[in-house]
Amino acid sequence: GLLVDGQARPTVFARMSALAARTGAANLGQGFPETDPPEVVAEAAVAAIRAGRNQYPPGAGEAVLREAVAEHQQRFHGLVWDPASEVLVTTGATEALAATLLALVRPGDEVVTLEPFYDQYAAVIALAGGVHRTIPVSSRTDERGDLVLEVEEAAVAAAFSARTRLVLVNTPHNPTGLMLPSPVLQRLVDEAAAVDAVLVTDEVYEHLTYDGAVHTPLAALPGAQDRTVSISSAGKTFSVTGWKIGWVTARPELLTAITGVKQWLTYTSGAPFQGAVAEGLRLPDEAFTAIAEDLRARRDLLVGGLREIGFRVAVPASGYFVVADAAPLGEADAAALAERLPAEAGVVGIPLSAFYREGAAAQAPGGDARAYLRLAFCKDVPTIEQALERLDAWAAPRR
Ligand code: PMP
Ligand code: GLN
Repeated sequence: GLLVDGQARPTVFARMSALAARTGAANLGQGFPETDPPEVVAEAAVAAIRAGRNQYPPGAGEAVLREAVAEHQQRFHGLVWDPASEVLVTTGATEALAATLLALVRPGDEVVTLEPFYDQYAAVIALAGGVHRTIPVSSRTDERGDLVLEVEEAAVAAAFSARTRLVLVNTPHNPTGLMLPSPVLQRLVDEAAAVDAVLVTDEVYEHLTYDGAVHTPLAALPGAQDRTVSISSAGKTFSVTGWKIGWVTARPELLTAITGVKQWLTYTSGAPFQGAVAEGLRLPDEAFTAIAEDLRARRDLLVGGLREIGFRVAVPASGYFVVADAAPLGEADAAALAERLPAEAGVVGIPLSAFYREGAAAQAPGGDARAYLRLAFCKDVPTIEQALERLDAWAAPRR
C-alpha cells in the first residue's frame, strides 16, 4: 500500500494535546515544559537571528556546537569524541533516531527496545523494515505501597537472537522515569557484543535526574563506546522542545552512515539555534543542577497530590513523567479513562498502553499495565495544582 502500517495516524501526543485545547483541560499529557529557557540561551538565539545566521549551516552542524557537544560529553560523562568526525547535529533527537535506524537496520533485522518505549521507536523500526523485540519493564509494590517499575537483569537475554542487529536503549526512560542501573546496562552491552549488534542510546533526559540519582551513559561502560551511537537533545535540558536541536556521537564509521541519511531527511538543522545551544552546553554545572532541582519540586507536588487522591504512584528518579495506577480508583482501563478524563475531570493524561505494542500492556510482568496513566510534571505549578484539584473532585465519590 501507499502507507506504512498505521504510521499515518497522528501520534497520541498530538491527539491528546488537541483534546486538551478543545476541552480546556489541564494538559498533563504531552511532555513539553511551560518553563522558559535559561536567559543566556534565549538571548543567544535572538542575537544570532539579528546577526544574520539565517541560512543553511554546515550539514554536520556548526563547528561551535559540535565542539560544545564534545566538551559537554567529556565534562559530564568522561567520554572523548572528536568534534570533526564523531559529532553530528540533528533536527532534535527525533531525527537522530530516525536517521540512525534508517542507516543501520536492514529489512528483517531485529531491533531490541525496552517495553514500554517512546512511541517513535516502533514507528521508525517499522519504517526501516525491522522486526521489533522487547525487554519488558516489570512492576511491583514496595513497603510504602508505591509502584516500582524496573528491568530485571535476567529479562535482558531473552530478547536477543542471532538476528539482533541493533539495541535501542533509553535511559533515563520515557515513559517511566526509570534509570537503568549499571549491571543491566552492562548486560545489554555484553549481549550486543556477543551477536555483534550496534547499541543506540537515547539520553535526552540525561540532566533531569532527582534525589542524587546518577545517570550512567551507556557509551561509558567497558566495551561500549566503539559500538554505541549516543543521542541527546537540547529540548529537555534547556526547556526548548520547539527548537529541535539534537546531536549524535559515534565512531566515524557509524557516524558517516547516519550523516548520509540525515542529509536526505533535513539536509541541515536550525542555524540560529545551534550557537545558542552551544552556549547552553557550556553553562556551569550549577545551571544544570538548578534546572533539575526546579523540576524535582514539581515532581514532588504531583506525586504527593496523586497519592492523596488515591492513585498508586511510581516515584520517578528522572524525566518529565509520573506513572499513576488508576486501579485503586476502580479504573482498570487507562486508555478508556484518558478519553473520558478531559470531559469528566478537566485533565489530560496519556495511557501507558500507548507505549506498548498492541496487546502487550496486559502481559506486563508483575501486573497488568493497562490501568496505568502517564502524567507530566514539566508544567507550571498552577497547572499541576489545578489538575490535582480537579482529579481530587473527580475521585472523591470513588474512594
Ligand atoms: N526521545 C525521547 C525518549 C523523548 O521523550 C523525546 C521527546 N520528548 C524525544 C526522543 C524527541 O526529542 P526531540 O524533541 O529532541 O526530537
Ligand atoms: N516526548 C514528548 C512526550 O513523550 C512528546 C513528543 C511528541 O509529541 N512527539 O510526551
